[in-house]
Amino acid sequence: MKRFAAILLALTLLLSGCTGTVTPTPEPTPTLPVSLPTPGGDVAEGTIFAMDTVMTFRIHGENGQEMISLITNTINSLENTLSVTREGSDVWNINHATGEPIAVGEDAAYLLTLAKELGEKADGALDVTMYPVVKAWGFATKGVDDPGEAEHRVPRAEELSELLEHVDYRKVAVQDGTVTLPADMELDLGAIAKGYAGERAADLLRENGVTSALLNMGGNVQSVGSKPDGSPWRIGIQDPAGDTGAYLGVLQLVDQAAVTSGGYQRYFEEDGIRYWHIMDPATGAPARSGLTQVTIVGDKGGLCDGLSTALFVMGREKALDYWRTYGGFEAILVDGDNTVWITAGLKDSFSLVEGTEYTLQVVEE
Ligand code: AMP
Ligand code: MG
Repeated sequence: MKRFAAILLALTLLLSGCTGTVTPTPEPTPTLPVSLPTPGGDVAEGTIFAMDTVMTFRIHGENGQEMISLITNTINSLENTLSVTREGSDVWNINHATGEPIAVGEDAAYLLTLAKELGEKADGALDVTMYPVVKAWGFATKGVDDPGEAEHRVPRAEELSELLEHVDYRKVAVQDGTVTLPADMELDLGAIAKGYAGERAADLLRENGVTSALLNMGGNVQSVGSKPDGSPWRIGIQDPAGDTGAYLGVLQLVDQAAVTSGGYQRYFEEDGIRYWHIMDPATGAPARSGLTQVTIVGDKGGLCDGLSTALFVMGREKALDYWRTYGGFEAILVDGDNTVWITAGLKDSFSLVEGTEYTLQVVEE
């Protein structure tokens, strides 16, 4: 019920023009896609269920409904290509190739190249070959027609160390549109695909002349331009404590993506301990870096998504070192001790909500 309430909340917030980076885990029997009634004026709104999440779109200007159909098709076809459970997808083919080279489309080749590069820079914190470990904890979806998750469980240490022997992003070979993965390994693009889908959808809207749109793709907000009146979009950044959907702050966004990773997005509890879906490749267990949430703000949704996962795993100090070394994005890091660290570029565009228990720290270069 909580999940359903979260979905409704996300929708309500979207309609009111301020949307949370909430990833509502959908109910197992989605009746979507549905389209919300188009409100008056030149704004179109739509909701679909794709990539294991509820996505809501708001598009201003002419041809809004047409644009919604266009990006829905794009997202669906990306899901067909990138899904780990969809038989015949590029990722499925790679995982079932028993070590033989597989020809893939541009999207999979691009994302795997990006993931390898980020894996390298992040010292292995992002590793797309963690899939066997993710599955062992029960965080993989059951199958294409069943968005529910497999049974959650805490694997034993020996099982995890055995699985980790089959984890190493460096062994994914990408060359000339062909991918080769050792037969004893499996990969998934869950850490990066949704952000990339947002990026592609936003690019498509821009190519079609859209200058004002907001796409909320489950923990992943992609803006096109600004609000119709020229002012920035205002995005609620979720308070990672609890499932309340309350905000800790508001981020102003123009033409950029804001992608959030948090331990509260998917989790289970056993013996009073919470286990979540973002894994530390060094341990094979949920990443306990001290950070409870990471939001990355930048131009490219796919990159932001990969970074949100990587920086969550790395923890604050390494995350900020990464930002200082490579740059090209801004970040909002929430610490377990209620401190919100924002990188210097967000000084004027992020503010805490009034009366919050969080304190703000601006990180200079
Ligand atoms: P995100 O919600 O973007 O942080 O991505 C989390 C998803 O990526 C999980 O549901 C897993 O499918 C996958 N995953 C978990 N841990 C890692 C990791 N360290 N590197 C790459 N993918 C991961
Ligand atoms: Mg991510």
